[in-house]
Amino acid sequence: MAVLITDLCINCDACIEECPATAIVSADDSPLANGEYTYVKPEKCIECVDAAVPKCADVCPTEGCIIWDMPYTEPFNHHFVESNDYVLRVHKKKGLLSPVVAPRPYRESVALSEREKNISVGETLRLYNP
Ligand code: SF4
Ligand code: SF4
Repeated sequence: MAVLITDLCINCDACIEECPATAIVSADDSPLANGEYTYVKPEKCIECVDAAVPKCADVCPTEGCIIWDMPYTEPFNHHFVESNDYVLRVHKKKGLLSPVVAPRPYRESVALSEREKNISVGETLRLYNP
């Protein structure tokens, strides 16, 4: 990741079709054991680096629902591998698609201090009150 969908999610699934990385699945397809909400796969999310704003947050009707997490890169490997917020995919040949094995692009413009606080993606990018 990436971005994380919180329990503010109303499971409208509007974000799923918008994701250019097919990183988002509905609650029914969440890999979490008790997944109740639409879920972002951090091993697929590219933070929409080629777009003006993350598409999921842009379309989401629930303010503050989607928040920043750490970059999906090697320095944060433990963060993702040991997190209860995620279940990372295991590839047949590559094994666990951890940040070490398969790092993803991320927005350098979002400070690590903001990511650590899990601030809202929409708030960062002024999606609510431009
Ligand atoms: S930030 Fe972009 S790539 Fe990541 S889940 Fe949202 S729409 Fe998909
Ligand atoms: S658009 Fe927002 S509220 Fe709707 S499913 Fe996605 S994260 Fe949840």
